[in-house]
Amino acid sequence: MKTSCLKIACPTCGRTTVCRVRRTVRVKVGHREIAVRQVALEECSSCGERMYDLAALARIREARERARRSHAA
Ligand SMILES: [Zn+2]
Repeated sequence: MKTSCLKIACPTCGRTTVCRVRRTVRVKVGHREIAVRQVALEECSSCGERMYDLAALARIREARERARRSHAA
């Protein structure tokens, strides 16, 4: 997949090096940590700042809820 870079300034460092990428995002669920694979997000290649859009946040939230349910079962 080709990464598409956006012509927007990074809110942290101010450089226009923000690109749309897919990353594995690690999130805490209780005492555990889960990996949400292939989350599409915007990442600054200069400072590493990550920006999550609504779709990315929804994916992470779903993964957390799934992990929490499977843990309870
Ligand atoms: Zn930056």
